[in-house]
Amino acid sequence: MTAGTRLVFSGGVIRTMDPAAPRAEAVAVEGSRIVAVGMSEDVRGRAGRAEWIDLQGRLLLPGFIDAHNHYLATGESIGSVDVRYPLVGSTGQLVAAVAEAAGTTPPGQWIRGWGFDHAKYGERRAPSRRDLDRATARHPVAISHVSGHYVLVNSMALSLRGIDEFAPDPVGGAFVREPDGRLTGLCQDAAMGLVLPVAVDVGSHGPNFHTQAPLPELVAAAERAGRAYLAAGLTTLCDAQVTSRELEAYREARRLGRLPVRTVCMPLSHQLDSYQAVGMAGPFGDDWLSVGAMKFYADGSLIGGTAAFSAPYEEDGEFAGILYWEPEAFRAAISRAHRSGWQIGVHAQGDRAIAMTLDALAAACAAHPRPDPRHRIEHAGFPTPTQITRMAELGVVTVSQPTYLYDSGDEFLARLGERAARLLPLREEIDSGVTVVLSSDSDVASFRPLDTIANAVRRRTASGSVIGPNQRLTVQEALRAHTADAAFALRRERDIGSIKAGMLADLVVLDQDLAGLPPADIPAVPVWMTMADGAIVHHATG
Ligand SMILES: [Zn+2]
Repeated sequence: MTAGTRLVFSGGVIRTMDPAAPRAEAVAVEGSRIVAVGMSEDVRGRAGRAEWIDLQGRLLLPGFIDAHNHYLATGESIGSVDVRYPLVGSTGQLVAAVAEAAGTTPPGQWIRGWGFDHAKYGERRAPSRRDLDRATARHPVAISHVSGHYVLVNSMALSLRGIDEFAPDPVGGAFVREPDGRLTGLCQDAAMGLVLPVAVDVGSHGPNFHTQAPLPELVAAAERAGRAYLAAGLTTLCDAQVTSRELEAYREARRLGRLPVRTVCMPLSHQLDSYQAVGMAGPFGDDWLSVGAMKFYADGSLIGGTAAFSAPYEEDGEFAGILYWEPEAFRAAISRAHRSGWQIGVHAQGDRAIAMTLDALAAACAAHPRPDPRHRIEHAGFPTPTQITRMAELGVVTVSQPTYLYDSGDEFLARLGERAARLLPLREEIDSGVTVVLSSDSDVASFRPLDTIANAVRRRTASGSVIGPNQRLTVQEALRAHTADAAFALRRERDIGSIKAGMLADLVVLDQDLAGLPPADIPAVPVWMTMADGAIVHHATG
């Protein structure tokens, strides 16, 4: 659409996510902006000569915003060996998938796979390098776990990286071992950085999945994932763990016109010194590509079973999880980032990690008060009621992923027992005044907003159990949490996330209204059209 062309949407259900005027009859777009919203008559009067699009009863919403997504990694995973469950449901099938890839990969070249989930295999043991060694002895192999927090490698990968069979554990991570102390090939959290050839050193600031790849491949991955996002109705993505590798790829993709969605970057905390040295803190950039909050990790993952809880868990009741930081060092780093002007997003799953996070944020805000710092807790898997009250007091936003409850809820029930009912207590958070944001954490889980919304409303596990039914959101709350409140988490609510005159024209049209639909039917509602920056970038009928 060229500048000056006017387009008017009418004839459907328009949910604006603007509390002052939640419904409208028509929306006019000119260039990259929404220019009028309201009754058809009024919009007609203001739109002048315009092309009218008849929604034919469909639902018009602001474009969906995914406030926590591993954008580039998603594009890369679309291109690697897919070993997700139920495609691969046993160690035997995992070996077969790797062996098949070995048949078509030149010897010596890395074979990468993504998404194994052995908790679902119904076997008494985790797969090991011995299994992968059966698939190939001529290729280094690295298969990432669905959580993104650990990786399984074969013996050749270990020896290529110069890792001895009895290598010690690094800070912030662990090698899983056989009874005699030899490595099984499963590398957790910071240990991943030792086995995968990575493009950047992130120290023990988080899991290192920033593997080496040529820039053109990364640009292709950004474009590939971006197009998939548009087809799912997403118009803005926030990459929740950005290093120089991702930032360069997004800049290059944007320069080449191959970055299809608005992209906000969360630099990982190992870069705090570098950003400070040049005097920079987010938000920085323009409305298409920008640097937002800084990302810190407090603990491991819920899906991988390394989240830090105050009471031990796991079947043997002994494991309390992994913290990435000593509390004092964490407090100092958070304070420094806050003081530099950063909005901060902390990955914190278990209540022990959330306690450490809230203590650090509260201390930073008390020592260096500043208006509306809007710090975020990523995931916020298991906050206690007291912690939820503290979040509300501190104005902390939670950015959560209810699709975990579907994908891994049955494991959570086995691991946490009755405690699982308080996983992602979103209802309680909203009722306590916390801004709740829904997101995907793709490529850990589906990036489709309608999957995320349905899972927030249903809270069902894959086997049909319900986790914490009193924590369900309504459809309207879930929509808001994936649009307007997601924009708020990105500090972009003046531009995106709701339909108001003056906002950027990012819109999505779903084939039918979600209100009144059985929640189980929500994921199947087709995305009819997506508009980004005033241009129709996806249209189901061509
Ligand atoms: Zn994540």
